[in-house]
Amino acid sequence: MNKVYIVGAGPGDPELITVKGQRLLQCADVIIYAGSLVNPALLDYAKPDCQIYNSASMTLDEVIHTIEKAVSKNLNVVRLHTGDPAIYGAIQEQMDALKKLAISFEVIPGVSSFLASAAALKQEYTLPEISQTVIITRNAGRTPVPERESLKALAAHKATMCIFLSVHMLDEVVKELTTGGYSPDTPIAVVQKASWPEQKIVRGHLNNIAAKVKDQSIDRTAMIVVGNCLESDYALSRLYAPEFTHMYRKGTSAKDK
Ligand code: SAH
Repeated sequence: MNKVYIVGAGPGDPELITVKGQRLLQCADVIIYAGSLVNPALLDYAKPDCQIYNSASMTLDEVIHTIEKAVSKNLNVVRLHTGDPAIYGAIQEQMDALKKLAISFEVIPGVSSFLASAAALKQEYTLPEISQTVIITRNAGRTPVPERESLKALAAHKATMCIFLSVHMLDEVVKELTTGGYSPDTPIAVVQKASWPEQKIVRGHLNNIAAKVKDQSIDRTAMIVVGNCLESDYALSRLYAPEFTHMYRKGTSAKDK
């Protein structure tokens, strides 16, 4: 019986899928893709006779049943998820269902949209002495978030935060972040459809971002990035400092000579 591949499609640009993911799409007999977010241009990698299903209109049972049927005919199946499947991909329940049916599967990682957003912003999230931590989170919506992980609670760390699935609640996000400890002049950026041709970037501060984002009519498929890394004087990394000795390079400091 063939293995099922759960593949990360990357953030949108069809060239940002892994080589392995692309190869699996090219030999798939059946592709079930998360149609609400996966760029349909990725389906151009499929064979002309590939059967393609959009899971946006399917239930979990229908997805699993489609996979089960295909696998029983020994067809190659790819389940295509946006970004990396481990982040808000709802893949756990699919993997558990496959396990129950004794269908073997493998997960192929992808470039998550929070990383494509960093690339779009030309921004490093982990700046020395500013923040060495990236928090991946979301505001509570129809999926609840445990209270101890509320934006307000997480804001106390003043780390770099990448907030998924929340741009339509930006007013509330800003309120939570400021109540939690970020000052109103903390820099924030919103990246819509990072890596797609229609990518949009809006930069501002907590006290003015909501109006700017409304002006651009951005209410979905966007990453909120907040934190002082976006606008600050940081300490230079030790890694490339001339005097710094590490495993691969001898530094020039008196002590090390
Ligand atoms: N597994 C995906 C996330 C799925 S949840 C990943 O790793 O990226 C869907 C949310 O991801 C969207 O609401 C949005 O917040 C974010 N997102 C997905 N694609 C995006 C893109 N190209 N640009 C910005 N945000 C994106």
